Amino acid sequence: MSGNKESERQNPPKKSMDDLLERDKLNIRLNRINHKILVFSGKGGVGKSTVAVNLAAGLAKEGFKVGLLDIDIHGPSIPKLLNIENHKFSFKDETIQPINVSENLKAVSIGFLLEDNQTAVIWRGPRKMGVIKQFIKDVEWGDLDYLIVDSPPGTGDEPLTICQLIPDADGAIIVTTPQDLAIVDVQKAITFCKQLNMKILGVIENMSGFTCPNCGKVFNILKSGGGIDMANEMDVPFLGRIPIDPDIVISGDEGKPFTGLETTTPSAQAFKTIIDSILNFAKQNALHNVSIINKGENPMKIAIPLANGKLSMHFGHCEEFALIDVDENTKFIKGKTILTAPPHEPGLLPAWLADNGANVIVAGGMGSRAQGLFAEKNIKVVIGVREGTPEDIVSAYLNNMLSAGDNICDH
Ligand code: ADP
Repeated sequence: MSGNKESERQNPPKKSMDDLLERDKLNIRLNRINHKILVFSGKGGVGKSTVAVNLAAGLAKEGFKVGLLDIDIHGPSIPKLLNIENHKFSFKDETIQPINVSENLKAVSIGFLLEDNQTAVIWRGPRKMGVIKQFIKDVEWGDLDYLIVDSPPGTGDEPLTICQLIPDADGAIIVTTPQDLAIVDVQKAITFCKQLNMKILGVIENMSGFTCPNCGKVFNILKSGGGIDMANEMDVPFLGRIPIDPDIVISGDEGKPFTGLETTTPSAQAFKTIIDSILNFAKQNALHNVSIINKGENPMKIAIPLANGKLSMHFGHCEEFALIDVDENTKFIKGKTILTAPPHEPGLLPAWLADNGANVIVAGGMGSRAQGLFAEKNIKVVIGVREGTPEDIVSAYLNNMLSAGDNICDH
């Protein structure tokens, strides 16, 4: 990873309101996906996309709801590997509909936007980063058990972007082949993950040995064992070996994932063992996450007086209140309710908002007597806020970016 990328991560540029709102949208999508797994490789051609497709299809076959996200902008393989090259995205209510591959498997790839598979995408970093973000935030993924992300090889813009967009992913799987030339590059991929604090679920050694179908003798065409040795050396888990199997090539060319087929060959067995390891890991991680949520969730309801959908400067005479449910720890906006304001009677609002569960009120201004009444009801008062929609104000408040000025209505 270059020095620039490292310093960008340590000192991220100051976030604008639009960035914060985008982040909220992204978090809302990601919140509905239980497990996110990134598939990386140091080099091209080691079978990374093949592994990603087969993991996704294998998990879907086990009955899990799976999304497969192809973030290889310049060389998307997923449409071909799933035999859905002619499919195009449809759009509904400003969201992108993923391609339904089977009952349990959905896929998204830049390939579904291109006119044909000969079209080359010539984009620089920021544009690629924007499209990857859209592929999470604007896609109607729905509720998923697993999102498998197929990233292009190396440690460039795309893997960096996905690690930044999903920093709490379950982790990365790194695919390599056994020979030294591939191993050198996979070490870089591991270092990249470590630098970004991305957990490494494990290394898969693909194309590891070939069993002759005639004599049963094993030929280590690309050598063997390089992956496991390197995993040990770099202190990361080893998930397993997948042998060279001509059926994998055929299934890839025909767009029928190998793990979706009923076969009991050594390579099918190898995929099964790897999928079982992922399921075991996910089980442990789920227990871990439940305990984090139980410990960490900090629900909060923020009340905002509204006039014409925006902050009303006169909270006592406003038309409506927005009540926004958020989790203070994760900074997620979880819900919004609009209530018609009660009649303007002294002392009524604090009790009414407390009854409706509010524990923060954001207002343009407020008299000291009203502030005292809110304090009695354990409602925190934030005053001096000038303008904004409820979502803007709440995002800014949660991210300590709310510029609260003078109390402009102190009567
Ligand atoms: P990458 O995503 O790393 O560039 P691909 O998944 O596109 O690699 O695979 C490259 C080629 O290798 C494909 O033709 C694929 O069918 C083949 N391949 C992948 N894994 C195996 C394997 N275990 N045995 C035989 N061929 C394989």
